[in-house]
Amino acid sequence: IPVEQIRNFSIIAHVDHGKSTLADRLLEHTGAIKTGRDKSNQQVLDKLQVERERGITVKAQSASLLYNYNGEKFLLNLIDTPGHVDFSNEVSRSLSACQGVILLVDANDGVQAQTVANFYLAFGNDLVIIPVLNKIDLPNADPERVCHQLQTLFDIDPSTILKISAKKGIGIDKVLEAIVKTLPSPPVDRNAKFRALLFDSSHDKYRGALSLIFVKDGTISLGDNICSAHTKKEYEVKSLSLLRPDEVPVKKLVAGQIGLLGCNMRSSKEAHIGDTIHHVGETVEVLPGFQPLKPMVFAGIYPMDQSQHIHLRNAIEKLTLNDSAVTVEVDTSPALGQGWRLGFLGLLHMEVFSQRLEQEYGAEPIITAPSVTYKIKLKPTKQLIKDGSDIIYINNPAHFPDTVKIEETFEPMVKATIITPDEYLGSIISLCMERRGVQTNATNIDNNRVMLQYDLPLCEIVLDFHDTLKTLSSGYASFDYEDSGYQSSNLVKLQILLNGTAVDELSSIVHITKSQTIGKQMVHRLKDIIPRQMVQIAVQAAIGGKILARENIKPYRKDVTAKLYGGDVTRRMKLLAQQAAGKKKMRMVANISLPRETFIDVLKK
Ligand code: GDP
Ligand code: MG
Repeated sequence: IPVEQIRNFSIIAHVDHGKSTLADRLLEHTGAIKTGRDKSNQQVLDKLQVERERGITVKAQSASLLYNYNGEKFLLNLIDTPGHVDFSNEVSRSLSACQGVILLVDANDGVQAQTVANFYLAFGNDLVIIPVLNKIDLPNADPERVCHQLQTLFDIDPSTILKISAKKGIGIDKVLEAIVKTLPSPPVDRNAKFRALLFDSSHDKYRGALSLIFVKDGTISLGDNICSAHTKKEYEVKSLSLLRPDEVPVKKLVAGQIGLLGCNMRSSKEAHIGDTIHHVGETVEVLPGFQPLKPMVFAGIYPMDQSQHIHLRNAIEKLTLNDSAVTVEVDTSPALGQGWRLGFLGLLHMEVFSQRLEQEYGAEPIITAPSVTYKIKLKPTKQLIKDGSDIIYINNPAHFPDTVKIEETFEPMVKATIITPDEYLGSIISLCMERRGVQTNATNIDNNRVMLQYDLPLCEIVLDFHDTLKTLSSGYASFDYEDSGYQSSNLVKLQILLNGTAVDELSSIVHITKSQTIGKQMVHRLKDIIPRQMVQIAVQAAIGGKILARENIKPYRKDVTAKLYGGDVTRRMKLLAQQAAGKKKMRMVANISLPRETFIDVLKK
């Protein structure tokens, strides 16, 4: 297929606006998958079990479609993007291989926070934007209002907006036509030396790492010797395939095409996203790569007991092969033994990961409370000046230096976009203030919706901000954020002591103005979480040597059923069973047994 007849595009949308449904329709209309009533809701591109359960796309998938338009054959490469705030960086990676996007907006919900964030990503990448309203079949659809929002916010001419129903298959041809007519063909050169952009990778049990590549120039064929511009490592091309969306093996890929490359890479860690691939012995200009995904949230992960260490290690290794966004470091904790510190893109990413550990590998590890990465400037000492490193980054509260050594502390910030109906404005503004947010913008996007922009500390949003926002607004407010660097901030290490012993695994780094409240909350919650034991337990929160809060957990009587003399046997059996079950998932820390979930539950509201 001539280059002029190739189009590379993505669909970008707020979660649930119908991206996967539209992708399926495009596959059907181009004959890549069979149409069938019973298949009509099956989302071909969402493959993982968790994706189906949670209805989110976790990993970007792609497909090549063949489309006949006015007697000419077009190759349309659809690059799927993830649809959740945690993964917004993955969206920008996927966009790097595209010339245009379909900006899909629910005609009932209207523009939402991720619509705004995604629009600016596409706009900033100079991509052609095809605005499309979806779900026009819904009785409550209000295309007029949503067109107006798009005009107000993005200066989009309402007459250019397509109106479709992905579910009912209305207007799909118009979308395909717009892709062919308005997008440029990829700026490639088939006669130049081969070079390709590696923009995604996955792991296959039998073939090892597989890379998704966009061939920018030249041709790549089976058996070629290729080289990574980043690592300089050399490989032989073992397999090449197109995704239609199932793999179709081919002998070569030419400039303009997107396909899957298998070579003898041992792990997907070797497949660097944003890398340029070229032929061995040739020098080419490196393609503009992009920022590697940066984990934002870190948590310790430990086996329930050390006998499960190897099993857990294998599970983590296998899962991270397929999810190169997770970073892994070995870590040890005095209380929990040998484990790891993992980095995730966000809390949802972390939950998806631990859910997959359980579902796919039967692993039930202890996961400690998530933390962001703080930046600390140390007081200058001779040694530090000599080493030239007075700045340290920490994401494990256990590594927080002594206060006397600290010159200044910094925390990571985000720029957040929130879109909400007017009626929830008051409570959302209060929430943002409580989370130390600073409002930078407020715009009416129509007569009853507002877009708010805030600078917020990342640590204030990672745990439960999204959920709280949804609850406050009965689900109507939407939220997205982008990284905005570090800001000076007065941070302290809040320690938790159990019977006088500091338990680092329960400590956290907090803003000084919040230490009192959080300290109280934590001891209070621990009092509920930690079951009564043989001895009294004093739970204390402290900063340095200063105790901020204390609660006592009274010892239990030796026999949980001692009070229930006589009668009720079933009640007695039930209590004993509960006690036994409780024991199973306990972990001894500072001579006190803690339930597995303690470390993460203690910070949840
Ligand atoms: P995604 O999160 O953007 O991938 O959204 P999905 O494609 O998973 O769709 C979310 C929900 O909206 C699903 O329940 C779809 O069946 C539904 N949906 C998608 N398109 C339409 C449409 O055109 N009309 C109606 N009524 N529902 C739709
Ligand atoms: Mg989807």
